[in-house]
Amino acid sequence: MGIVVQKYGGTSVADPERIKAVAEHVAFTRSHGNDVVVVVSAMGKTTDNLISLANQVSGTHPGRELDMLLTTGERISMALVCMALADIGIDAVSFTGSQVGIITDTVHTKAKILEVKGDRLREALAAGKVAVVAGFQGVSTDSEITTLGRGGSDTTAVALAAAVNADVCEIYTDVTGVFSADPRIVPQARKLQHLDFEEMLEMAGAGSKVLALRSVEFARNHNVPLHVRSSFTWEHGTWVLDMSAFNAQQSSKENAMEDPIISGVVHETGEAKVTVFGVADKPGISAALFEPLADANVNVDMIVQNTSKDGITDISFTVPKSDLATALKIVNAVAGELGAAGVTHDEAVAKISLVGAGMKTSPGVAAKMFRVLADADVNIEMISTSTIRVSVVVGAANTEKALRTLHTAFGLDSGQAYSAPLPERK
Ligand code: ASP
Ligand code: MG
Repeated sequence: MGIVVQKYGGTSVADPERIKAVAEHVAFTRSHGNDVVVVVSAMGKTTDNLISLANQVSGTHPGRELDMLLTTGERISMALVCMALADIGIDAVSFTGSQVGIITDTVHTKAKILEVKGDRLREALAAGKVAVVAGFQGVSTDSEITTLGRGGSDTTAVALAAAVNADVCEIYTDVTGVFSADPRIVPQARKLQHLDFEEMLEMAGAGSKVLALRSVEFARNHNVPLHVRSSFTWEHGTWVLDMSAFNAQQSSKENAMEDPIISGVVHETGEAKVTVFGVADKPGISAALFEPLADANVNVDMIVQNTSKDGITDISFTVPKSDLATALKIVNAVAGELGAAGVTHDEAVAKISLVGAGMKTSPGVAAKMFRVLADADVNIEMISTSTIRVSVVVGAANTEKALRTLHTAFGLDSGQAYSAPLPERK
């Protein structure tokens, strides 16, 4: 029939029972005539625990050694899944990322995939075996073991799916799909049936944790259809694909779908706001500020510069909280050199984003969003937009109110409270 790549996240292989359930599902998929490639994450909280171990022995973590340590988590899962498969009579073989030829650059702990050779994968499939691959890892052009950044198993799965030209890349997780909002905060959230790659990209970039951003980029670039679904209920989840191609196919059947104006409301509470105030408004100031941040690999997200008054202005921007200490050190130094009046920061902020492909053809979404927030007495601190996204920064205490009122105002409420069990937030 086809080739199916199945990625099982940490909660899907968290204990022996879950691993046996995964083996059963792989057997079930094969019984329908498919070749199966399995990609596994580390069991449960293994990666967090390994990082905590590293912290306990040392404050210095050479990237090479950290990667050696972290890749062990996925190796445990792959071997156990193969054993569980053997137990039910399925011939399976495990591979590390290096063994299947996932070649990366040399940046330890956040390596990028350069090439997937996949020879051993194809050989295993040709021999009628299930291939079980350790996610999140590869081997660098310097022959060193690397990892792909937290959540990187999604990227492994999509890269392998592209390499073997799989029919689908199924991402098994602890939620039943991609939702119009986080059901833990918005009980009226609805499961989305389909999403375009672009929408999923914007959602992942705006803070949705369901899929790693890099994996969605890879899926879009190689046109790998994704199916995000639950390994607890096994029900159909959310398809992420090229909607224009999908609609072209459907239109012959006369049920092509219109782009919903808004597909989801996404929040991100992992960023902090930094403001440099009282700085001269002249050429080169922003470059002087943001160049050293870029050099230090600080990921700057939103940037707002006020209109200047008497040649003096304020510049605000957001950075991941994990980069805040580094950012402040740099910004304080640069602000001193530039003669700025001062630097402040605020960690109690949240970014709220509306995402929807239909925004392209529906003006007025931003205006409506601002009106809804104003009526809910939520103050907007920063704004940014793309063609299919509007984001605002608000005080963190307003997160829940902003999400719920926007969800309702844009007609996304499902009409029934989310009732499936709510797993712990990743
Ligand atoms: N085990 C790694 C992590 O926890 C990779 C993954 O789960 O995708 O980040
Ligand atoms: Mg994970």
